[in-house]
Amino acid sequence: MKELSRKLADSGIIDRRNFLTGFGACAITPLSPLDMQVAVSLANSLTKEQRDSMSPSQVVEELKKGNERFRARKMVSRDYLAQKRSSATGQYPAAVVLGCLDSRVPAEIIFDVGIGDTFIGRVAGNVVNDDMLGSMEFACAVSGAKVVLVLGHTACGAVKGAIDDVVLGNLTGLLARIKPAIPLTKYDGEKSSKNASYVDAVARINVVLGLAEIRRRSPILEGLEERGSIHITGAMYDLATGVVEFVK
Ligand SMILES: [Zn+2]
Repeated sequence: MKELSRKLADSGIIDRRNFLTGFGACAITPLSPLDMQVAVSLANSLTKEQRDSMSPSQVVEELKKGNERFRARKMVSRDYLAQKRSSATGQYPAAVVLGCLDSRVPAEIIFDVGIGDTFIGRVAGNVVNDDMLGSMEFACAVSGAKVVLVLGHTACGAVKGAIDDVVLGNLTGLLARIKPAIPLTKYDGEKSSKNASYVDAVARINVVLGLAEIRRRSPILEGLEERGSIHITGAMYDLATGVVEFVK
Protein backbone atom coordinates (compact mmCIF):
# COMPACT_ATOMS: atom_id res chain seq x y z
CA MET A 1 0.00 0.00 0.00
CA LYS A 2 2.88 2.33 0.78
CA GLU A 3 4.33 1.58 -2.60
CA LEU A 4 1.00 2.31 -4.25
CA SER A 5 0.62 5.64 -2.49
CA ARG A 6 4.17 6.57 -3.42
CA LYS A 7 3.55 5.74 -7.07
CA LEU A 8 0.32 7.70 -7.15
CA ALA A 9 1.95 10.65 -5.45
CA ASP A 10 5.02 10.53 -7.68
CA SER A 11 2.88 10.31 -10.79
CA GLY A 12 0.94 13.39 -9.73
CA ILE A 13 -2.29 11.40 -9.71
CA ILE A 14 -2.74 12.28 -6.09
CA ASP A 15 -1.24 14.81 -3.82
CA ARG A 16 0.90 12.97 -1.30
CA ARG A 17 0.13 15.30 1.58
CA ASN A 18 -3.57 15.08 0.95
CA PHE A 19 -3.43 11.36 0.50
CA LEU A 20 -1.68 10.93 3.80
CA THR A 21 -4.02 13.22 5.73
CA GLY A 22 -7.26 12.27 4.04
CA PHE A 23 -6.58 8.57 3.85
CA GLY A 24 -3.95 8.12 6.53
CA ALA A 25 -5.62 4.96 7.76
CA CYS A 26 -4.25 3.15 4.70
CA ALA A 27 -1.04 2.41 6.58
CA ILE A 28 -2.91 -0.08 8.74
CA THR A 29 -6.12 -0.57 6.78
CA PRO A 30 -5.90 -1.31 3.07
CA LEU A 31 -7.98 1.01 0.95
CA SER A 32 -11.04 -0.45 -0.67
CA PRO A 33 -11.32 -0.15 -4.45
CA LEU A 34 -13.91 2.59 -3.93
CA ASP A 35 -11.63 4.53 -1.57
CA MET A 36 -8.91 4.18 -4.14
CA GLN A 37 -11.14 5.62 -6.82
CA VAL A 38 -12.15 8.42 -4.51
CA ALA A 39 -8.54 9.15 -3.62
CA VAL A 40 -7.70 9.43 -7.26
CA SER A 41 -10.82 11.40 -8.09
CA LEU A 42 -10.06 13.97 -5.41
CA ALA A 43 -7.10 15.29 -7.31
CA ASN A 44 -8.33 14.67 -10.86
CA SER A 45 -11.57 15.32 -12.66
CA LEU A 46 -13.83 12.30 -12.41
CA THR A 47 -13.41 9.76 -15.18
CA LYS A 48 -16.39 7.99 -16.72
CA GLU A 49 -15.41 4.75 -15.01
CA GLN A 50 -15.15 6.42 -11.60
CA ARG A 51 -18.46 8.23 -11.96
CA ASP A 52 -20.32 5.22 -13.33
CA SER A 53 -19.01 2.93 -10.58
CA MET A 54 -20.61 5.08 -7.86
CA SER A 55 -24.21 4.66 -6.75
CA PRO A 56 -26.35 7.75 -6.18
CA SER A 57 -26.00 7.20 -2.41
CA GLN A 58 -22.22 7.08 -2.71
CA VAL A 59 -22.22 10.35 -4.63
CA VAL A 60 -24.25 11.97 -1.84
CA GLU A 61 -21.78 10.58 0.71
CA GLU A 62 -18.87 12.06 -1.25
CA LEU A 63 -20.56 15.46 -1.26
CA LYS A 64 -21.02 15.19 2.51
CA LYS A 65 -17.36 14.24 2.97
CA GLY A 66 -16.33 17.17 0.79
CA ASN A 67 -18.33 19.55 2.96
CA GLU A 68 -16.64 18.08 6.03
CA ARG A 69 -13.22 18.69 4.46
CA PHE A 70 -14.25 22.27 3.67
CA ARG A 71 -15.28 22.90 7.28
CA ALA A 72 -12.19 21.21 8.69
CA ARG A 73 -9.82 23.21 6.48
CA LYS A 74 -8.73 19.93 4.90
CA MET A 75 -9.67 20.73 1.34
CA VAL A 76 -7.93 18.84 -1.41
CA SER A 77 -4.99 20.56 -3.00
CA ARG A 78 -5.93 20.58 -6.67
CA ASP A 79 -3.98 21.29 -9.80
CA TYR A 80 -6.70 23.12 -11.70
CA LEU A 81 -4.62 23.38 -14.84
CA ALA A 82 -4.13 19.60 -14.83
CA GLN A 83 -7.87 19.16 -14.28
CA LYS A 84 -8.55 21.61 -17.08
CA ARG A 85 -6.35 19.53 -19.38
CA SER A 86 -7.73 16.15 -18.33
CA SER A 87 -11.36 17.26 -18.65
CA ALA A 88 -11.03 19.19 -21.90
CA THR A 89 -11.99 16.20 -24.02
CA GLY A 90 -14.88 15.02 -21.88
CA GLN A 91 -16.77 15.56 -18.65
CA TYR A 92 -18.37 13.02 -16.33
CA PRO A 93 -19.89 14.99 -13.43
CA ALA A 94 -21.49 12.90 -10.69
CA ALA A 95 -24.12 15.41 -9.57
CA VAL A 96 -26.09 18.46 -10.65
CA VAL A 97 -26.61 21.15 -8.04
CA LEU A 98 -29.36 23.76 -8.26
CA GLY A 99 -28.08 26.49 -5.98
CA CYS A 100 -28.74 30.13 -5.21
CA LEU A 101 -27.12 33.05 -7.00
CA ASP A 102 -25.76 34.19 -3.61
CA SER A 103 -22.02 34.83 -3.83
CA ARG A 104 -21.48 33.13 -0.49
CA VAL A 105 -22.69 29.72 -1.65
CA PRO A 106 -20.20 28.46 -4.25
CA ALA A 107 -21.06 24.77 -4.48
CA GLU A 108 -17.67 23.67 -5.82
CA ILE A 109 -15.96 25.13 -2.77
CA ILE A 110 -18.37 24.12 -0.01
CA PHE A 111 -18.41 20.54 -1.36
CA ASP A 112 -14.69 20.59 -2.16
CA VAL A 113 -15.00 19.32 -5.70
CA GLY A 114 -12.91 20.17 -8.72
CA ILE A 115 -13.28 21.06 -12.37
CA GLY A 116 -15.51 18.57 -14.18
CA ASP A 117 -16.93 16.92 -11.04
CA THR A 118 -20.33 18.60 -10.73
CA PHE A 119 -22.81 20.51 -12.86
CA ILE A 120 -23.87 23.72 -11.11
CA GLY A 121 -26.97 25.74 -11.96
CA ARG A 122 -27.47 28.93 -10.00
CA VAL A 123 -30.43 31.26 -9.83
CA ALA A 124 -31.63 33.55 -7.04
CA GLY A 125 -33.62 31.53 -4.53
CA ASN A 126 -32.60 28.23 -6.21
CA VAL A 127 -35.96 28.22 -7.94
CA VAL A 128 -37.00 25.54 -10.39
CA ASN A 129 -37.85 26.81 -13.85
CA ASP A 130 -38.08 25.28 -17.31
CA ASP A 131 -34.49 26.07 -18.23
CA MET A 132 -33.14 24.63 -15.00
CA LEU A 133 -35.27 21.53 -15.50
CA GLY A 134 -33.89 21.15 -19.01
CA SER A 135 -30.38 21.55 -17.68
CA MET A 136 -30.94 18.93 -14.99
CA GLU A 137 -32.45 16.56 -17.55
CA PHE A 138 -29.36 17.01 -19.70
CA ALA A 139 -27.10 16.44 -16.69
CA CYS A 140 -28.78 13.16 -15.69
CA ALA A 141 -30.43 11.67 -18.77
CA VAL A 142 -27.74 12.61 -21.29
CA SER A 143 -24.53 13.08 -19.34
CA GLY A 144 -25.12 10.49 -16.60
CA ALA A 145 -25.09 12.45 -13.34
CA LYS A 146 -26.39 10.42 -10.39
CA VAL A 147 -27.71 13.10 -8.04
CA VAL A 148 -29.94 16.16 -8.35
CA LEU A 149 -29.34 18.41 -5.35
CA VAL A 150 -31.43 21.50 -4.61
CA LEU A 151 -29.27 23.62 -2.34
CA GLY A 152 -30.90 26.38 -0.31
CA HIS A 153 -29.12 28.46 2.30
CA THR A 154 -29.62 30.54 5.40
CA ALA A 155 -30.21 34.30 5.24
CA CYS A 156 -31.28 34.04 1.60
CA GLY A 157 -31.99 37.48 0.16
CA ALA A 158 -34.38 36.08 -2.45
CA VAL A 159 -36.44 34.43 0.26
CA LYS A 160 -36.48 37.70 2.20
CA GLY A 161 -37.60 39.47 -0.95
CA ALA A 162 -40.45 37.01 -1.42
CA ILE A 163 -41.53 37.48 2.19
CA ASP A 164 -41.42 41.26 1.76
CA ASP A 165 -43.36 41.10 -1.51
CA VAL A 166 -40.64 43.00 -3.35
CA VAL A 167 -41.64 44.29 -6.80
CA LEU A 168 -38.72 44.98 -9.14
CA GLY A 169 -38.62 44.34 -12.86
CA ASN A 170 -38.04 40.70 -13.75
CA LEU A 171 -37.24 39.88 -10.13
CA THR A 172 -40.97 40.04 -9.36
CA GLY A 173 -41.65 36.93 -11.43
CA LEU A 174 -38.72 35.08 -9.92
CA LEU A 175 -39.88 35.81 -6.38
CA ALA A 176 -43.33 34.52 -7.32
CA ARG A 177 -41.74 31.07 -7.62
CA ILE A 178 -40.63 31.26 -3.98
CA LYS A 179 -43.90 32.59 -2.56
CA PRO A 180 -45.75 29.23 -2.39
CA ALA A 181 -43.30 28.29 0.38
CA ILE A 182 -44.50 31.12 2.62
CA PRO A 183 -48.02 29.90 3.53
CA LEU A 184 -46.72 26.33 3.80
CA THR A 185 -44.10 27.23 6.40
CA LYS A 186 -45.31 26.30 9.85
CA TYR A 187 -43.76 28.80 12.22
CA ASP A 188 -44.58 30.10 15.67
CA GLY A 189 -43.17 33.55 16.08
CA GLU A 190 -42.59 36.70 14.13
CA LYS A 191 -43.14 36.02 10.45
CA SER A 192 -40.99 38.73 8.97
CA SER A 193 -37.87 39.01 6.86
CA LYS A 194 -36.13 40.47 9.91
CA ASN A 195 -36.53 37.20 11.79
CA ALA A 196 -33.59 35.05 10.67
CA SER A 197 -35.03 31.74 11.86
CA TYR A 198 -38.30 32.41 10.02
CA VAL A 199 -36.44 33.28 6.82
CA ASP A 200 -34.49 30.03 7.11
CA ALA A 201 -37.67 28.04 7.75
CA VAL A 202 -39.20 29.43 4.55
CA ALA A 203 -35.97 28.71 2.66
CA ARG A 204 -36.12 25.12 3.82
CA ILE A 205 -39.69 24.70 2.62
CA ASN A 206 -38.65 26.35 -0.64
CA VAL A 207 -36.11 23.55 -1.09
CA VAL A 208 -38.69 20.86 -0.32
CA LEU A 209 -41.15 22.41 -2.77
CA GLY A 210 -38.37 22.61 -5.35
CA LEU A 211 -37.86 18.85 -5.08
CA ALA A 212 -41.59 18.24 -5.55
CA GLU A 213 -41.60 20.64 -8.48
CA ILE A 214 -38.76 18.76 -10.17
CA ARG A 215 -40.62 15.45 -9.85
CA ARG A 216 -43.92 16.97 -10.96
CA ARG A 217 -42.60 18.82 -13.96
CA SER A 218 -39.97 16.37 -15.17
CA PRO A 219 -41.21 12.85 -15.91
CA ILE A 220 -37.67 12.16 -17.15
CA LEU A 221 -36.05 12.89 -13.79
CA GLU A 222 -38.88 11.30 -11.84
CA GLY A 223 -38.53 8.16 -13.96
CA LEU A 224 -34.77 8.01 -13.41
CA GLU A 225 -35.39 8.35 -9.67
CA GLU A 226 -38.00 5.60 -9.66
CA ARG A 227 -35.59 3.27 -11.44
CA GLY A 228 -32.92 4.04 -8.84
CA SER A 229 -30.62 5.64 -11.40
CA ILE A 230 -30.55 8.99 -9.61
CA HIS A 231 -31.33 10.53 -6.24
CA ILE A 232 -33.27 13.78 -6.07
CA THR A 233 -32.43 15.41 -2.78
CA GLY A 234 -32.24 18.77 -1.04
CA ALA A 235 -30.04 20.50 1.48
CA MET A 236 -29.60 23.74 3.39
CA TYR A 237 -26.23 25.46 3.66
CA ASP A 238 -25.55 27.50 6.80
CA LEU A 239 -23.62 30.64 5.91
CA ALA A 240 -22.25 30.97 9.43
CA THR A 241 -21.15 27.42 10.17
CA GLY A 242 -20.47 26.12 6.66
CA VAL A 243 -22.58 23.05 7.39
CA VAL A 244 -24.64 21.51 4.61
CA GLU A 245 -27.62 19.76 6.16
CA PHE A 246 -29.54 17.42 3.91
CA VAL A 247 -33.26 18.00 4.37
CA LYS A 248 -34.73 15.14 2.36
ZN1 LIG B 1 -30.06 32.99 -1.70
